[in-house]
Amino acid sequence: MSIENKNLKILLIEDNFDEAELIREMINLVVDASINLTHESYLKDGLKCLDNNQYDIILLDLRLPDNDDLSSINKIKNKNATVPIIVLSSIQDKDIAVEAVRKGAQDYLYKGQFDSELLGRAIRYAIERQRIQEQLKKQIEREQLIGRMTESIRKSLELREILETTVHEVRQFLKADRVIIYGCQDKSSPRTVTESVAPKQKNNTSVLADFESLYQSYLCNLELQEEQEQNLEGAVVSLTNSILTVPIWQNYPEKKARLWGQLLAQDCSGCRQWQPWEIEFLIQLSNSVAIAIQQSELYLTVQRQAMLDGLTGIANRRQFDRILEQEWQRLAHQQEEKGVYYPISLIMCDVDFFKNYNTVYGHLGGDDCLKQVAQVIQQSSQRASDLAARYGGEEFAVILSGTDAKGALKVAKNIRSTLHQLKIPHQDSLVSQYVTLSMGIATKIPSFDTNPIELINLADQALQQAKTQGRDRIIQSLI
Ligand code: GH3
Ligand code: MG
Ligand code: MG
Repeated sequence: MSIENKNLKILLIEDNFDEAELIREMINLVVDASINLTHESYLKDGLKCLDNNQYDIILLDLRLPDNDDLSSINKIKNKNATVPIIVLSSIQDKDIAVEAVRKGAQDYLYKGQFDSELLGRAIRYAIERQRIQEQLKKQIEREQLIGRMTESIRKSLELREILETTVHEVRQFLKADRVIIYGCQDKSSPRTVTESVAPKQKNNTSVLADFESLYQSYLCNLELQEEQEQNLEGAVVSLTNSILTVPIWQNYPEKKARLWGQLLAQDCSGCRQWQPWEIEFLIQLSNSVAIAIQQSELYLTVQRQAMLDGLTGIANRRQFDRILEQEWQRLAHQQEEKGVYYPISLIMCDVDFFKNYNTVYGHLGGDDCLKQVAQVIQQSSQRASDLAARYGGEEFAVILSGTDAKGALKVAKNIRSTLHQLKIPHQDSLVSQYVTLSMGIATKIPSFDTNPIELINLADQALQQAKTQGRDRIIQSLI
């Protein structure tokens, strides 16, 4: 009989020496691989053998002196879940033998009822069936993992979270020592984006050093490919020093694929041969990761666009409302919890005689002017807690969280003088030959009893005063 394995390791657990001898002879007769048969008479000794040995198959007598029921199968499976078992029973134990298969044995033979041919065939099929079952189980696990990860990728738009989950799950699943996602959008300074390392390899730095040299040669290869304009969408797999890497490609419609990074798995012992299914698995995952990266980049762009004003590029009214509410709540909280009173200031700005500007310079000229004014306002409010926004039309607003009236006046003066320096011609303005702003400032201490509308109203009233008092000026609400 031909069995793939040239060295067949068999564990025979049988208390009847004559039966054992007979089985040994039968096997020798029919199996043409070299046989390494261990014979034990007690289950406990058989189980001990499993501690240090890997067997291709176990032949198990169901009636042993120390175990004469089906629990022996479980005990073996607990020690080694994947070793195939053929049960040897007497013909009287017919029902029990069938039950043994349900409990995880691959086959059963009735003592005295089989010849060497049947035994050989049973061994071969049991090993083969077990191998197929294991493969199927692995495949299901792989599909489940891919399913789980695709699901979490779909659910989350948080790229960091996605990448961290990926390296962690892949390392667990492949039982690799280290799994890294390496980013190389910037070819000159590739970097580790995220990694998962087995605890025992935490201090092993050789891994990355190995990978970096591998990566350099990989890049050379890649450039060659680019030069030759080969199809870059196909995966390239590099296998050196037990490092398995697959590229993460970004595909954009009507654009050349771009190498975003690498997904790599390493075995630190250096002698692991990566299996075809492992390579296939990593390629499949790198495709999911590529999609996730694209999705989250798109999401970020959309999110950014939703916050920005299309014309001037500074924050829009929606973002203004959101930030003002958020800062109001934050400072009110600080007041309530710590008893600290932090003010919030608001500057409302309105371009003077802008209708006239449009009339003289046209609507496009007006747009251009608004962009310049927006830049001036933006540049004058540079603290992390400041927000310059287009409030609507030719009106702008600046939120200065944590800034008092004095500070706000300083910012407004800065805006005014910077705009003066810019000298944007405005020949139809009645206050200046250049574009000017009227500004109203209000300052309040946020609390849960008040709301930001009051602040907006006060700043707006001050702005109206600035208009009526002659424009190109700053009026500060004193309430
Ligand atoms: P005041 O000095 O009292 O502020 O007079 P004003 O002309 O600036 O104010 P008014 O509110 O009468 O007119 C505002 C003008 O701003 C009218 C509108 O066409 C123009 N405007 C609003 N949004 C835009 C825009 O996006 N682009 C351009 N070019 N013009 C805009
Ligand atoms: Mg206006
Ligand atoms: Mg105006």
